Parts: sequence; C-alpha cells; structure tokens
Amino acid sequence: MFVSAEGMHYQTADNRQVLDGTAGLWCCNAGHRRPRIVEAIKAQAEELDYAPAFQIGHPKAFELATKLRDMAPEGMEHVFFTNSGSESVETALKIALAYHRANGQGERTRLIGRERGYHGVNFGGISVGGITNNRRMFGSLLTGVDHLSSTHLPDQNNFVKGMPEHGADLADELLRMIALHGAETIAAVIVEPVAGSTGVLIPPKGYLERLRAITEQHGILLIFDEVITGFGRLGAPFATDYFGVTPDLITCAKGLTNGVIPMGAVLSTPKIHDAFMNGPEHLIELFHGYTYSGNPIASAAGIATLETYAEDGLFERANELAPYWEDALHGLKGLPHVIDIRNIGLIGAIELEAIPGEPTKRAFECFIKAFEKGVLIRTTGDIIALSPPLIIEKEQIDQIFDTLATILKELD
Ligand code: PLP
Repeated sequence: MFVSAEGMHYQTADNRQVLDGTAGLWCCNAGHRRPRIVEAIKAQAEELDYAPAFQIGHPKAFELATKLRDMAPEGMEHVFFTNSGSESVETALKIALAYHRANGQGERTRLIGRERGYHGVNFGGISVGGITNNRRMFGSLLTGVDHLSSTHLPDQNNFVKGMPEHGADLADELLRMIALHGAETIAAVIVEPVAGSTGVLIPPKGYLERLRAITEQHGILLIFDEVITGFGRLGAPFATDYFGVTPDLITCAKGLTNGVIPMGAVLSTPKIHDAFMNGPEHLIELFHGYTYSGNPIASAAGIATLETYAEDGLFERANELAPYWEDALHGLKGLPHVIDIRNIGLIGAIELEAIPGEPTKRAFECFIKAFEKGVLIRTTGDIIALSPPLIIEKEQIDQIFDTLATILKELD
C-alpha cells in the first residue's frame, strides 16, 4: 500500500520509501506531486468544476488542445478528448470506421491489430489487441479483425541495444491480408510503435516505415497507439517523432496529465477531421463523445503537465539519460535467469527464464523482493518492464539495477 508520493519516491503504509521504477503505470513522467499540477487542479476546482462536453465549451479544454497540437507531430492538428487509453483506442477505431463511411467507402470495416498488442481493455481494444488472457474470457469479440504477427524474434534479436535488425519484413504480412481480404474492406491498422504491456517489444529497423508505406498505398488508415510512448518516454514528444513515421491517428493518455487525473486524447490530421465537418451548424458531426471529455479539472492538470515537461526540459533529459540507462540495464546480461534484455529511450525490459510449469512466478518473486528492497518494478509474464519518471537521477538508475542484480543472484 502506498500512502503518499513525492518526486521519484512512494511512501508505503509502513513508512518506507520506494523508488518508482515504473512512473506509476507508465504515466507519472514528471515524477510525483509536482507543485504546478497540484496548484492547477486546486485552482480549477474553485473556478469551474464541470461544463457539459456536448454543445458547450470551456476555455481550458481549448487551451490544452492547442498546447497538445503544438507539441504533437507535424500534421496532427486536431484533438478529441477521452478519459483513458482504452477510450482513446475505442475512439480512434470508431473515427477510422466513420471516416471511410463519410468518404463513401463504408465497406472498409476491417480492423488489423497485432499479436501481443495491448490496446486497453474495452471491446475494440481487446479485439485488435493480441494478449490471449485479456481476450479469452470475453466471448467472440469484434468480427472482421485480423492480426499481424508480433515482431518478437528471440532467436535473431537477442540482447539488442535499441532497435533490432531483423523483422522489418513482418510488415509485409499486411500485403497478404490485403490479398486475402481486399484492401477495399480494410479500415485501419493499429499498432503500438513500441509494444509495452506485453513486455517491451521494440520495432525492428524499417518495420514502421513499411507499415506506413503499405497502408498509404492502399488507402488504409494507420493508428499509432502512443498511450505509453507519448510525452517523452523515448526522449521525444511522441514515438512518431522518434521514429520519423507519421500515422493518421495517434492515441494517447497517461502522461497527458502525469497520471494525476484520468484523461486521454486522439490526435488526427486535418484530412480526417475535415471529412466530418460538412454538415449544417445544428447537426452533430461525429456521434461519439464522453460526459467527461475535456473535463475542466483534467484539462487544467493537462495544461500544467505539458508546461512542467517544457519548463524542466524533461523530454530532452530523457534523451540525454537514455545511453546511461541502456548501459546500466545491459550490465545485467550474464546474471542468472536472464535470457534477454531490450531497451529504447527510458524503457527497459529484462526477460527471465520461466520456472518450468510455473510461468510468471520467477518475475513475481523478483517484484516482491524489489519492493522489499525499496524499488518498484513491473512484471508482465516473466518479463521485468521498467519505465521510470523522466526526472530520474543517474544514482537512482544505479540503485534500480544494483537492486535487481542482487535479487537475480539470490533467486532460485
Ligand atoms: N494502449 C496502450 C498501448 C497501453 O499501454 C494502455 C495501458 O497501459 C492502454 C492502451 C490502456 O490505457 P488505460 O489503462 O488508460 O485504459
């Protein structure tokens, strides 16, 4: 149980300090309890608590949308607010379907995701997602969905620093799907530029470029789910900037408000936005939206968060720290149980050999021991996934990896 937090640390109910190696859940990129964000929330609660999200506006939502547009990759001119990453994904998928319909191509209804993809927990997200346990309990899911192969090639890309060499050709599977289904039936492809929740899978060199080229050639929209890669995680505002590949829609959440208040957003190009904006004033353009879209307090938190990132130069900081992070992380190579290490920006993954017949148990033991030794890590399957706040100091990076080295040597 955590009872309070400050900067890089949580405090437990029994008064211990725990170093945050995961930015909460990949969301507190500026660290905890940042004064500007706390003040903005207090002030907004005293000024305007709520305004209807339909037909009515309020200035903070537009101020945040403008700031987000200014920070977003070139060409992303419009913002649709949601309340989580899952809602951003549902929103982006619906916009993709509706866009084609608005353009007279209503037969484009097929959605393509990827094995091991994670796009939240709502029906669209688990349908295009590819994490078996997140899907198998919940029926037949959306129809008309297909999945590309995961880009994980452990035999060819082991202990790689940064982007792996092998696997770009896996994007060509999309050509097979186009041949099978017909491009004219496919609405969109959705991928995480870096797959996070499944255990950190870094895109092979050239893979995202190929996906972009194929989707563009066949009139298929490309959606980047940047819920964890947005807001500096790779040392750039978005993964789109980092990889230099621009999709048609970007989903984001988490770091948008530093995790403090639930909020997400979908960013889109004018081409998509304008397709809906052709009716008379009194008609609704897109039949989609949430009661809390652009909530005033969330908007105030978002504005203060983006200002904090800029004022503290946190994205540049992440970029400067990335080589140190990479070296420290890969220093664990050769320790017991470690079968792969992967990294990009301020993301790291250590894959452990599973205990035969007891998958996830070894990583979970590691999580408990790290917690006891004052470091918060996250595990998924038998993979340790790390994503610290971007304010982390070098000594704290050392603390994370020294603690993990000790634990790995102690584990059975
Ligand atoms: N998409 C991606 C890529 C994510 O990593 C996550 C959460 O980790 C989500 C969507 C879902 O976000 P939320 O938990 O805010 O609904």
